[in-house]
Amino acid sequence: MPESTFKVEGYAVNLHYDALTGLPNRLCFIQLLDVALDAVPEELAVLFIDLDRFQQINGALGYAAGDKLLQAVTSRLRGLAGVDGLAGRVGGDEFAVVSSSKTEQYLDALRVPYQIDHHQLFVTASIGVAIFPKQGLNATELLRNADLAMCRAKASGRDAIEIFVPEDPTPVLERLQLENSLRSALENGELDLVYQPVVNMNGTVDALEALLTWRHPVHGTIPPRRFIPIAEEIGLIVPIGAWVMEQACIQGARWLKSGYRNACISVNVSARQFERRDFVAQVAEALRIAGFPAERLELELTESYLMRNLPESVYRMREIRELGVSISIDDFGTGYSSLSYLSKLPVDSLKIDQSFLRRLLEPKGSLPVVESIVRLAHGMHLVVVAEGVETEAELDLVRVLGCDKVQGHVYGPAVGPDEAGELLARNAVLALVSRF
Ligand code: C2E
Ligand code: MG
Ligand code: MG
Repeated sequence: MPESTFKVEGYAVNLHYDALTGLPNRLCFIQLLDVALDAVPEELAVLFIDLDRFQQINGALGYAAGDKLLQAVTSRLRGLAGVDGLAGRVGGDEFAVVSSSKTEQYLDALRVPYQIDHHQLFVTASIGVAIFPKQGLNATELLRNADLAMCRAKASGRDAIEIFVPEDPTPVLERLQLENSLRSALENGELDLVYQPVVNMNGTVDALEALLTWRHPVHGTIPPRRFIPIAEEIGLIVPIGAWVMEQACIQGARWLKSGYRNACISVNVSARQFERRDFVAQVAEALRIAGFPAERLELELTESYLMRNLPESVYRMREIRELGVSISIDDFGTGYSSLSYLSKLPVDSLKIDQSFLRRLLEPKGSLPVVESIVRLAHGMHLVVVAEGVETEAELDLVRVLGCDKVQGHVYGPAVGPDEAGELLARNAVLALVSRF
């Protein structure tokens, strides 16, 4: 036990410390922080750190593995906080830290893969920051505000840092309004599909990924990351997803008719859709209605839900592949990715999450992780797609690392069906990479 164990009525109260990690618990952390604040005249940052998708690791690998991960995280946090810092476990997978290390260092340190039992785990964290004294005058306030900021980091897509900003209560209202108008968006024809090219290393378009956009009559264009989570929560993703599947197949058939024989269509699938018993029948129906060949359709699934019930997922994935449709794992590396699970999944390709691309060129960045993902994927004969490639430098690097395909702003954002059709017609991207 750490030395600063509190004395209450003459007893050393170890109850204040978390048995698993040896860190101060929430109550103890608050007490220690208040003591520290008395002694600190200048600024001090409180970090609230929440592991991303920790529950899935518990669910898939068991609590013993989850516990080991928490211990491994603790030792990294301790290392960074140093002897002068303060770290606490303030919830199941929540930690709080006060230290002089830069916040980015915490994100980076936590992201280095963990070796737990026989699994290599890629774990990220969402971090909220509140600064004393302007964002909280005491420990309770600081912790609460850092927690609120952490929720924003989660909402922004995880693996991120957010600093606390005082807010009025509009977000709740805004969300309610969004929810209400989303219910009628499909009927009102406000949803559209745009298409982003997935490009081979020789510069030809390999596929077009269908991405939803919402053209809201008042708020303008709303990106999917803002409304898909709401649609998932309230179940609307099921009819919306069915519409997407059908529209994408119809559009694909149109392009085929126009003679563009070179492209496949990729469609994103949510947990709620995938878990429905009639999902495969729906996919078959969409293909039939559109008259689109199954071989040209690819479904993008994410690990997070595939791992919830692995045998069931594998069964469903086999059914999908029996239709002739291929499967890719989207946002790979963001949940946890373990070799042994991946080898059980009947998949064709992996799309490396763009958070890795963002840190590819940084010193001590994600390069080794990407390198090992590519090696592991190729070992399983999977095609590797690098997502979110924005610059020529990143393009060069993912090529060297052996990625097979690229998607990202370097080749252009998602565009409407007409423009995407032109892209297919001209295979315009070829010009961009004529130097190869
Ligand atoms: P995703 O499937 O991983 O799609 C890629 C996202 O990355 C798209 O965001 C795309 O616009 C963005 N992106 C592509 N290249 C770059 C780049 O170079 N830099 C950066 N910063 N971003 C890039 P978008 O359109 O906002 O979609 C976000 C997510 O929403 C998608 O991530 C997907 O998970 C979900 N989504 C979109 N459409 C659908 C849909 O029809 N059904 C379901 N279930 N989910 C969808
Ligand atoms: Mg996708
Ligand atoms: Mg993705």
